[in-house]
Amino acid sequence: MTYPELYMAIDGERVTAGSRRTHKVLNPATGETLAELPLADAADLDRALDAAARGFKQWRNTPAAQRAAVLIGAARLLDERAETIARVATTEQGKTLAETRVEVHVVSALFQFYAAECQRLYGRELVRPAGLRSVVRHEPVGPVAAFAPWNFPLGNPGRKLGAPIAAGCSVILKSAEETPASALLILEALYDAGLPKQVAQAVFGVPDEVSRHLLASPIIRKLSFTGSTTVGKHLAKLAADDMKRTTMELGGHGPVLVFDDVDVDRVLNTVVGQKYRNAGQVCVSPTRFIVQEDVYEKLRDGFAERAGRLKVGPGLEEGVQMGPMANARRPEAIDKMLADAQEKGAKLHAGGRRLGNQGFFYAPSVISEVPLDATIMNEEPFGPVAIFNPFAKEEEMIEEANRLPYGLAAFAWTNDAARQRRIARDIETGMLGINTNMIAAADSPFGGVKWSGHGSEDGTEGLMACLVTKAVHEA
Ligand code: NAD
Repeated sequence: MTYPELYMAIDGERVTAGSRRTHKVLNPATGETLAELPLADAADLDRALDAAARGFKQWRNTPAAQRAAVLIGAARLLDERAETIARVATTEQGKTLAETRVEVHVVSALFQFYAAECQRLYGRELVRPAGLRSVVRHEPVGPVAAFAPWNFPLGNPGRKLGAPIAAGCSVILKSAEETPASALLILEALYDAGLPKQVAQAVFGVPDEVSRHLLASPIIRKLSFTGSTTVGKHLAKLAADDMKRTTMELGGHGPVLVFDDVDVDRVLNTVVGQKYRNAGQVCVSPTRFIVQEDVYEKLRDGFAERAGRLKVGPGLEEGVQMGPMANARRPEAIDKMLADAQEKGAKLHAGGRRLGNQGFFYAPSVISEVPLDATIMNEEPFGPVAIFNPFAKEEEMIEEANRLPYGLAAFAWTNDAARQRRIARDIETGMLGINTNMIAAADSPFGGVKWSGHGSEDGTEGLMACLVTKAVHEA
């Protein structure tokens, strides 16, 4: 597979490096350089802003059926190009080919959902006496600045582009500099399906420079960010200076409550694969296993045994179940967190070390009896680590689940119907899976509460987040 040439897509032009600064894109399976990525300067960003203003004027008045046709066309092209796109995404991000193949189709499904949904933005007419008319309309918010991280190199740009395009907005996307080619392949499918090039553009750069520049501009009316809570808080403050709308998808620390009425093997069949998907670099990853005493040892030991058997290797290789981590920062961070936890008394049951002498591989890891003051019990590990702690009572388990300021995804395993309802009521989370890990779908709102952010992507809510409401009263 040849890795594609990298560029920025600004006002219909492919902008290559020239005399601009560049960023080295690495293959996380080898650590080798794949390509140099051009980084935007202030003039590039100004051109993108100017084009986004023009793109918005054109697109907001484009009939919904035409916007839908572009999204449907792009979905078809993504499906046709799935194998090439998946290979590029695996090459620059590391996760297995099986995972990136699914990711392409997830974007395609989301585009199809938004294509249908954008033709149903009905608004409503209020009840008024004869001669008077009051109408509530939904209108596109305006040009969007969207920042997508590297962990879902296709899924994140797909979300960031799909909703604004469906709503009639324009969008300037800055996807992660680690995984630029994947984002460009999604954008190319949209262009090839007929999207005007001023409606969606792609820039790359020094993240803080790009976000400050775009968010300082009155042209941008909405910020959409996925990434860490620390960066999210910083960007939300910048957006507040101009009262821009925001959708913030931030970190999580997924609690998994496992009660003693479950079939342990059935739980293991689901949660082990779920934990090590994308080497744990998933904001909704199951992280803190909060387990009732009677099933605790069986679950922990069964988990560690299965983790130890996983085949770790380059994502493009057949039969590999977990690829490398996406960048050099992640194995370093995991090493530090595991050392800290063990110094404070945690026990290691699997992994706990890097693998191989090239690339960013880390062994699937399991720790238990981790004290609450360990860093890993409070900060998102974003890596292949499962944390096990035993509990006696349901109330204590719910308290532990809600202890942290995060509230993105939570999971519970129990067959007790009354308990299922209590958990659904009491867990502070944006998404909850009961006896399942399937918490995301094109038609379902994806987002968090507390420090995990606000607003949703996907579903009707994802589209509504790109719209503003106008009430028009006529006499
Ligand atoms: P980071 O916090 O610096 O970056 C996270 C993402 O935000 C990256 O895509 C980065 O390009 C972007 N970013 C950083 N500073 C920015 C700025 N000033 N303006 C605009 N974008 C900016 O760190 P990282 O090492 O890439 O990831 C570390 C942590 O981020 C992880 O441990 C995890 O907690 C979190 N993260 C979360 C998600 C998610 O899906 N919610 C995805 C990736 C990373």
